[in-house]
Amino acid sequence: MTDAAPVAGSPFGGFLLRRTPLGRLVTQVARLRASVHQKLLAAFLLITLLFIVMGTLSLQSLAQISRQNVLMHEAHERVDWSLQAEKTFALQMNFTAMALLRRDEASIEHILRENNRFSETLSQIEQAAPPEERGIIQRIRAAQDRAVDTVADIANLVRDDRIDAARVLQLQTQYPLYQEIQGLIDQVVAAERARMDALRLAMESENRHAARSLALRGFGAVLLAVLLGFVISWSFILPVRQAHDFLGQVAKGDFSGRMTVPNRDEFGELAARMNQMSAELARLYEHQRQSAAELQALNHKLEAASRAKSEFLANMSHELRTPMNAILGFLEMMLDEIYGDVPEHFKEPLRDVQTNGKHLLRLINDVLDLSKIEAGRMELSLAEYSPRDVVDTVRASLQSLAAEKGLEFATSVAADVPAALGDGKRITQCVMNLAGNALKFTKDGRVDILVERDGESLIYRVRDTGLGIPQAQLGHIFEEFRQVDATITREYGGTGLGLTITKTFVEMHGGRIWVESEPGRGSTFSFSVPLRVREGQP
Ligand code: ADP
Repeated sequence: MTDAAPVAGSPFGGFLLRRTPLGRLVTQVARLRASVHQKLLAAFLLITLLFIVMGTLSLQSLAQISRQNVLMHEAHERVDWSLQAEKTFALQMNFTAMALLRRDEASIEHILRENNRFSETLSQIEQAAPPEERGIIQRIRAAQDRAVDTVADIANLVRDDRIDAARVLQLQTQYPLYQEIQGLIDQVVAAERARMDALRLAMESENRHAARSLALRGFGAVLLAVLLGFVISWSFILPVRQAHDFLGQVAKGDFSGRMTVPNRDEFGELAARMNQMSAELARLYEHQRQSAAELQALNHKLEAASRAKSEFLANMSHELRTPMNAILGFLEMMLDEIYGDVPEHFKEPLRDVQTNGKHLLRLINDVLDLSKIEAGRMELSLAEYSPRDVVDTVRASLQSLAAEKGLEFATSVAADVPAALGDGKRITQCVMNLAGNALKFTKDGRVDILVERDGESLIYRVRDTGLGIPQAQLGHIFEEFRQVDATITREYGGTGLGLTITKTFVEMHGGRIWVESEPGRGSTFSFSVPLRVREGQP
């Protein structure tokens, strides 16, 4: 992993991983079959253990130093005691001389007291002395025993007032004993001093050694901790970085990559999941690509079918229109009795035929318009037209229908409405559709057609007091073949195409259409178109 692994951003880390055995170590740690939690816990425990070991070693060094201090102190004590003994013996000698001079009991007691003190000090030295000094001390004790005897003799002689004999004893026995003891004590002192010197030297060297080894061990422990931190952290960082790059590739839509991490922990599982995810994404992407291709092919087919349908409808409607017009023409002439008298009972069915024929023709015209629009063959023929003429034409066509239904039918064109530029025929068709609907869906009341100017636009309104349209339907009535209520339409007739065609013509002029309505109170359909439609608009 380490060779291929991305280590950008950490040049030093990358160098260590590639050029030293650390890389292999990181891989080994990653391969350990343990969770991240366990690995981290183990690393922390190991570091804690290191510090405990370091602490123990330091404590051991301290104990060693304090042991040596005790030894040094003991040697000091022994030297002190030796000097003390020497001094006591000197005092003993001094008091002996005093006793010889003063010949009193008090001086003798002083001698005996110093003698006792000497004995006690000697016992202390003997107890604390190392084995090699025991021989000298025994010799001191032997000399002391003899000195005790001599002192006792000298005391007795003094008490007996035999001063000369006492002096002779002092000079010939006690004094040489004193010199012998002094010599022996000097030997003890010299041995202890030598021991102290050796001890001091040993202590100094041991202290140096302890400090050096402590520093080395401390350095080693820190190095080990850093190493451990490095290895454990990189065993986690490498898969994270790989995941980062891998996800970057996936985000760019490249699903060909695979994550290969040696980790057998959560990161290993994560990598496996990511590979699964990438494979699944690749599968979905491929599926989606195929679906899109199929959809596109289907779309092409649908477009072709729709075009064929529109062509067929346009041709059909065109072909149907001519005979239909002829039928209506002959019917008109029959009803006008150009071919002779029509019996009264024939007139009613003939009128029904005429009404249905007209309806059929309207339907055919609407289908023709719609198929032309769908086939993209509908074009406006722009020219100057008079909005007033538009309204008059519509009124003339629908006047009789309004009168038949007993509806008031009024038109009003504002005085400031000028001649306009647009397709007058199509605008007339729009107003006709709206007014036709208004008359159709109004039982009583009135229908008004209004035209006004709004800046550079013209607004045509058709207002009725008819059925109205429920709020929920208002958004749909401009869609093809939409009728609010089929039963009503059956009663009034209609194709469901009029509003669609009207909306298309208005939008082709660059305008818009809208409706306000309240069920039971009537509707107002309005559309606005530019006063002067420019070529190529919208
Ligand atoms: P249709 O030939 O059915 O009239 P349209 O596209 O012209 O087709 O109208 C669609 C539907 O909108 C109608 O069937 C009717 O339900 C509703 N509608 C249109 N104009 C009016 C109106 N003035 N009053 C009430 N409903 C209307």
